[in-house]
Amino acid sequence: MELNTPLVNLLALNPQELGELVQGLGWPRYRTHQILKWLYQHRVFDIDAMTNLSRVDRKRLRQVATVQREEAISRRIARDGTGKFLWRLEDGLAVETVLIPEERRRTLCVSSQVGCSLDCGFCLTAQMAIKRNLRAHEIVGQVLNVQADLPDGEHLTSLVFMGMGEPLMNFDAVADAIQRITNMEWGLGFSPRRITVSTAGWIPQFPDVRRLGVNLAISLNGTTNAQRDHLMPAVNRRFNLEALLNACRDYVKSSERPLTFEYVLLAGINDTPEDANRLGSLLRGLRCKVNLIPFNEFPGNRFHRPTSDVIDTFQQIIRRRGLDVFLRKSRGEDVLGACGQLGRSASAVLGTLTTHSKRGLPIYAEF
Ligand code: SF4
Repeated sequence: MELNTPLVNLLALNPQELGELVQGLGWPRYRTHQILKWLYQHRVFDIDAMTNLSRVDRKRLRQVATVQREEAISRRIARDGTGKFLWRLEDGLAVETVLIPEERRRTLCVSSQVGCSLDCGFCLTAQMAIKRNLRAHEIVGQVLNVQADLPDGEHLTSLVFMGMGEPLMNFDAVADAIQRITNMEWGLGFSPRRITVSTAGWIPQFPDVRRLGVNLAISLNGTTNAQRDHLMPAVNRRFNLEALLNACRDYVKSSERPLTFEYVLLAGINDTPEDANRLGSLLRGLRCKVNLIPFNEFPGNRFHRPTSDVIDTFQQIIRRRGLDVFLRKSRGEDVLGACGQLGRSASAVLGTLTTHSKRGLPIYAEF
């Protein structure tokens, strides 16, 4: 009967679903744990490599299941070493991941949706609109694939959910992925402290993020409702600045981790000394740090990057207000891999999908 039944991708199953498959095959429960270890710790692609299953069991498993990761469509390396990967998903859509190497650190910027349903004006992904949520294994697959691509001896040191999409609008899949990434017994064993989930301000899920034990970053970008309505209308109409800051205060009260506020600096829009002072007042008393991100210009966008002097003054004002403030360097601009610049390649692939064979060989293009 299995001849006509599509094979199940073991990576697409969560631990409970895998347990049900194991039970359905009439196997003991511990086999679930064994298979999970093969998938996430030994990272095998081939059921035959699962050598603590008997030959007969492996054959049986091959009749119903397979191990399949997303194909790489392209891999581009910017002059500063930033890598931008484009993956083809099972249904032909595409999603991007960015690797940021910095001295000994290797930070991976992971996507959680194909496109985004929010409409932040400074963001390239927003122009794609939402295609769909990623499933948990499509999120974990970005981590597994990039780790496999690193030279021997190099490891990912931190993960940030700052790629395509609003992670808290796909929370169940993000939480499932984080469980697989952090599980010490059978998963990737990544410390939750090294994972940051970044949100435009989707506050209902803040308590859930705290329970996951990962870091939370807020993409703030404005110090008044008028500014946030202008820059991030969809999210601010739903949860305005006051509601967002109240949720932030509740979060830090019950979390041992400080919050991070991301602030994209846009020339003439949110970069004045008044803005800096207002930001200092809004965040007074909140356990947090502020990351300033000078806007990365891209064709067709109406915003501009402030001058170095303006950026410097802004940072000094915030620092004088007693806040920890950091200037984020732009990385990977020549491959549009910098903050707010994900989506162009994915959109291009969406436009040319029919020309690609789903099972075609990955095309590696190094720049
Ligand atoms: S900045 Fe983030 S939340 Fe806003 S549109 Fe872009 S991907 Fe979505």
